[in-house]
Amino acid sequence: NTVPAEPTTPAAERTLVLVKPDGVRRGLSGEVLRRIEAKGYTLAAVELKSATPELLAEHYAEHAGKPFYGPLVEFMLSGPILAVVAEGQGVIAGFRSLAGATNPTEAAPGTIRGDLARDWGLKVQQNLVHGSDSVESAEREIALWFPHL
Ligand code: UDP
Repeated sequence: NTVPAEPTTPAAERTLVLVKPDGVRRGLSGEVLRRIEAKGYTLAAVELKSATPELLAEHYAEHAGKPFYGPLVEFMLSGPILAVVAEGQGVIAGFRSLAGATNPTEAAPGTIRGDLARDWGLKVQQNLVHGSDSVESAEREIALWFPHL
């Protein structure tokens, strides 16, 4: 793999990726990491974690009160989560492209969700991964999941 070396500046863009409990349970953690690395991004931190209701209340604050919020929190508490900080120019939008559309039925083939996730008829979309959606969200979410970074 001859991807050009990333200039290592403190300002390098970073995003928070989560392999959600369905991904860890199905043994797809390595596949998600493989796709991030194959694209050319760098792994800055990788840690298997258990979420807490308090952490999820902050992580998903924008969704509080929505009909899928309760099932989403319950799902995110249902097993271990692989938390990842990925780094590289454009990684925030780039990982969201790799992940594909939120709804796994609509996610394009070639994307993580399009290739590996489906609708199971549940109240929550079990769509394998999370990726921060903006610089502000990425900074906030990395601080939440990796307080020591
Ligand atoms: N979600 C869901 N139903 C919806 C919208 C969202 O179950 O109608 C879940 C899904 O797991 C999604 C998460 O809530 O990944 C957060 O939603 P968001 O709109 O932030 O989607 P994402 O950024 O993860 O694509």
